Amino acid sequence: MSQTAREPHRHEVIVIGAGVSGIYQIKRLTDLGIDAIVLEGDDDLGGTWYRNRYPGARFDSESYTYGYSFSQEVLDEWDWKERFSAQPENLRYLNFVADKFNLRQHMRFRARVNAMSWDEDAREWTIELVSGESYVARFVITSLGPLSMPTLPNYDGMAEFNGKSFHTYHWPKEPIALEGRRVGVIGTGATGIQVVGELADKVGELKVFQRRPNWSSPLNNSPISKSEMATIRSRYDEIFAQCAESPGGFEHVPDWRGFWNLSADERREFWDHLYTEPGFAILVANFAEIFFDEAANQEMSEYVADRIRQRVDDPVLAEKLIPRDHGFGMQRLPLETNYFEAYNRDNVHLVDLSEAPIERITPSGIQTTVVHHDLDVIIYATGFDAITGGYDRIDIRGVDAQSLADRWSDSPRTFMGVLAHGFPNMLMVAGPQSVSGSTNFPRAIETGVDWVTNLLAHTRAGGCTRIEATAEAEQRWVDEVVRAHERMMFRRSKGWFTGYNSNVAGHHEGTIRYQAYFGGAPRYAAHVAEVAANHYPGIAFA
Ligand code: NAP
Repeated sequence: MSQTAREPHRHEVIVIGAGVSGIYQIKRLTDLGIDAIVLEGDDDLGGTWYRNRYPGARFDSESYTYGYSFSQEVLDEWDWKERFSAQPENLRYLNFVADKFNLRQHMRFRARVNAMSWDEDAREWTIELVSGESYVARFVITSLGPLSMPTLPNYDGMAEFNGKSFHTYHWPKEPIALEGRRVGVIGTGATGIQVVGELADKVGELKVFQRRPNWSSPLNNSPISKSEMATIRSRYDEIFAQCAESPGGFEHVPDWRGFWNLSADERREFWDHLYTEPGFAILVANFAEIFFDEAANQEMSEYVADRIRQRVDDPVLAEKLIPRDHGFGMQRLPLETNYFEAYNRDNVHLVDLSEAPIERITPSGIQTTVVHHDLDVIIYATGFDAITGGYDRIDIRGVDAQSLADRWSDSPRTFMGVLAHGFPNMLMVAGPQSVSGSTNFPRAIETGVDWVTNLLAHTRAGGCTRIEATAEAEQRWVDEVVRAHERMMFRRSKGWFTGYNSNVAGHHEGTIRYQAYFGGAPRYAAHVAEVAANHYPGIAFA
């Protein structure tokens, strides 16, 4: 529909982002008969699963725990084919859900939001798109995704590289010929580790540029047969109930026998079992002590280091792949398939940047302080401006034109990850300081979307047109977030859990950002349920 600059589109609610949370959010709103649409910057829905098309991209949560739980029909009709389903199938799933409920009609694509500002007199948000179009809405629900703002390094010469180069998040839709090519991967986080395992036997030469090694353990993926799927389907209630009780939103449950109640031999025997179990079992079904007790974590780390030594033929190389600056599980754990075995191939080489850092990118490859690496393709698996990055890229102006990016420049401040004082009628799904960044994402966003929807329904039923978290309630939640963070040993490590990203100004070492709530999904769910049950103390309605 055409629109002049003076005629904004009007809706009661605007949802920003058509990823996993935006899809469910618009379903809930339209079910209530609310006039709402989704604005999506990309040219189709799917968010992270639309964007991350890199080889090896797949769930590391069990597929059937990652799918939505809200619709019995979806649970009945969709068959997962792999325990950890790959990106193309995951995108098909999200399209299946959206098409089943005719949700596309409520979505506008290529509608990237550039700015939004609060009008106190009208009690409305004005939303400006990059295209120049504008929208006005009483409420805005941000479902921007915690990992939607990819970050590139700042090396000189990046633009002059003659071959193909891209961030994994921007992996091209059209096929890229990699066979026989010299490929460089920068970054060894969860993404780089998936890419390396997948590409090792598909390219001519693969060079992995590693600044710091990451702990990683086997994904142990497998197909799901029809009969297994039938069993899973019959157990869905039980599976989701189990996820709701687990801190990370998984079906794995911690072992409560007590780390120190077992002998060292018994512990190793248990870990031998966990190492062959699927997914995050090795983290979540482990002894809880590995997260809180230095000695327990050290012993676990040594166990996994031995596994790496067993899997990598060259003992010198194996040592380079073992992290020394953080213990196992102290950064977000990548799960791998054939990652360590890749280094046993003649065509795969580790470039240890701790010995010789990258000096610049040249037209023909990567120059370190020691040697030039000739490359045809450079893959940047260099991570994200996590959790707050999606917010920072929109110029969000609240009461008195206060900038949200300025307010959050040191660290975000929210009320339960849903509301921010000074930014009325802006509701965040999977926002900073919620559990979404630290758990099996869909499990947490269903809690978030349901809570936000119920709050909106409550507001409308009361005839109110303005809601805002009080400054005191926001401070109480920030205190709770800090307390939960302080309990975890990983508070000292350098990763996106603690807001570290060397490529983003101000997100460097020593500047902890309290971006996620690490009190666990059950505790978070209990908090938000209590607030709703008590008619929303901490929120001012007008
Ligand atoms: P990441 O964990 O932040 O890793 C980024 C990597 O790039 C790190 O190894 C980092 O090194 C390196 N790096 C960054 N800047 C660099 C520079 N200038 N020079 C050299 N190396 C540089 O990012 P990610 O791997 O994309 O993963 C992010 C998150 O996405 C994961 O933690 C996970 O939550 C999610 N994810 C999920 C899946 C899944 O299976 N479902 C798959 C992939 C990702 P340093 O460690 O030294 O900083």
